[in-house]
Amino acid sequence: MDEFDVVIVGAGPVGLFLACELGLADCSVLVLEREPEPHSPWRAEPLGGRGLSAMSIQAFYRRGMLDALLTASGIDEVPDTDDPAPPRLAGHFAGMMLDAAAIDPTALPFRLPSPAPELMMTSLDTIESVLSERAAKLGVEIRYGAMVSAVTQHDESVSVQTDEQEYTARWVVGCDGGRSTVRRLAGFEFVGTEPQFTGYTMLATIADPDKLSHGFTLTSTGLYIRMQTDGHVAMMDFDGGAFDRSQQPTLEHLQAVLRRVSGTDVTLTEVQLASTFTDRAMQTTTYRQGRVLLAGDAAHIHSPLGGQGLNSGLGDAGNLGWKLAATVHGTAPDGLLDTYTGERRPIAAKVLDWSRAQVAVMRPDPHSQAIQGVIRDLIATGDGTTYVFGRISSLWIRYDLGSEHPLVGRSAPDFRLEDGTRLGDLMHDGRGVALDFSADRYLHDAAMQWENRIRYAAGAARNHLGLRAVLVRPDGVVAWVGGHDADREAFERVAEQWFGSPAIAP
Ligand SMILES: Cc1cc2nc3c(=O)[nH]c(=O)nc-3n(C[C@H](O)[C@H](O)[C@H](O)COP(=O)(O)OP(=O)(O)OC[C@H]3O[C@@H](n4cnc5c(N)ncnc54)[C@H](O)[C@@H]3O)c2cc1C
Repeated sequence: MDEFDVVIVGAGPVGLFLACELGLADCSVLVLEREPEPHSPWRAEPLGGRGLSAMSIQAFYRRGMLDALLTASGIDEVPDTDDPAPPRLAGHFAGMMLDAAAIDPTALPFRLPSPAPELMMTSLDTIESVLSERAAKLGVEIRYGAMVSAVTQHDESVSVQTDEQEYTARWVVGCDGGRSTVRRLAGFEFVGTEPQFTGYTMLATIADPDKLSHGFTLTSTGLYIRMQTDGHVAMMDFDGGAFDRSQQPTLEHLQAVLRRVSGTDVTLTEVQLASTFTDRAMQTTTYRQGRVLLAGDAAHIHSPLGGQGLNSGLGDAGNLGWKLAATVHGTAPDGLLDTYTGERRPIAAKVLDWSRAQVAVMRPDPHSQAIQGVIRDLIATGDGTTYVFGRISSLWIRYDLGSEHPLVGRSAPDFRLEDGTRLGDLMHDGRGVALDFSADRYLHDAAMQWENRIRYAAGAARNHLGLRAVLVRPDGVVAWVGGHDADREAFERVAEQWFGSPAIAP
């Protein structure tokens, strides 16, 4: 029987990102994926097209994968500048498009220019290709055609059963999507709200496409989105989620729904690909049961509106990876692993509400349409646009780490030293980073006690936002900021809280 530190169930973007984080930290990792091979038309453009937001893009950037992701996504590199610029893409709320030029970049919290854009478009297939290539380099094994059907916990291990074989691991993470088998088998409670609509996404041949408007169209009977690729259409039918999603929607059904929600007599002549989704909004009450953890859609589901599911999942993986690795290596301080649920669950709860709010505004009834008008007016203001953009781009996320300093708990700004080195460049090896901007390197001796877990970097910064030093966790979250000599003890306390006692050899 094969034994691993961690078995990850599901080689979607979340499972693969987590696998890379654990591989980087020298854990032995096996990923089990039920599909027989990695690529499928559902995950490639156009149906597999996905928007990534700031935290996700930063996560790729901080591990040295940004160039590969941008290139594979057909996006030009972001200019290397120290001047704050407005974002290039802005997004939407319930189909109401934001004007990127109306965003006030100075109102976005602690933002510094960075090669990592705030939003970008890519596809599941592209993300998975970039991640699986890196995972292979890090020694992670991915087995395709391996469907997990049983998970059994023991005192010191967990066994995982596929049709072919049983595997043993110290930890198992279910990254197996919205209908997670691991979630069910391990007995996680999954709570939330039932759907208002059935959603469809399809690639079809349309006889008379000009009957449909481009982009988002809200009608008095529903909503449809005509995408840029010919024949790529998404639609939302407010049927209370009545469609039986275990069956494949037929051409006749799709045409009937499209006619209903568009209020036209548009005709489909062929459907190449079609799938369904709903706005069911649920999350598990905890992300850990003993030695089994969940991440991504396995832990939380909601409507794809606003494009946040993948981003939340990647955030889970980045948050969990270093904590689980420290637990495997025995350096984790008490309770570190449980901060995963403590930090990530409230974020998903807010994302669920964000998606519920959009559904409420889009419902084809007079009350919802009245709220829509109010929101449209608010979004037309600079403050409104900046607020909504902050939510869409994930720049709003701040964990409560017990500090009153408004930067602590947020994704670290991409500080840049005078020699041009950026914080992102210092994070490739997965350690935390202590950035010391002081002339006398006042943090040096304190930080070096954790040398194998925290990278110490010193130098004047081009913009230090008034800070003397910053401690950044491996997931890029600011754990501590320093301003005075007396702070050294505070630094040591916080370093021990996140990285464990310096006396423990990993
Ligand atoms: C139309 C649409 C548009 C979307 N747009 C966006 C967007 O723009 N931005 C965004 O952030 N999110 C978006 N989302 C949501 C996003 O696609 C998901 O949140 C994301 O794919 C979740 O990733 P995951 O790795 O958790 O799960 P998945 O991508 O579902 O991957 C799970 C993997 O586990 C495997 N698996 C399942 N069961 C087993 C088993 N028993 N054994 C082994 N393997 C198993 C599956 O085959 C799959 O490969 C959209 C969703 C839809 C439907």
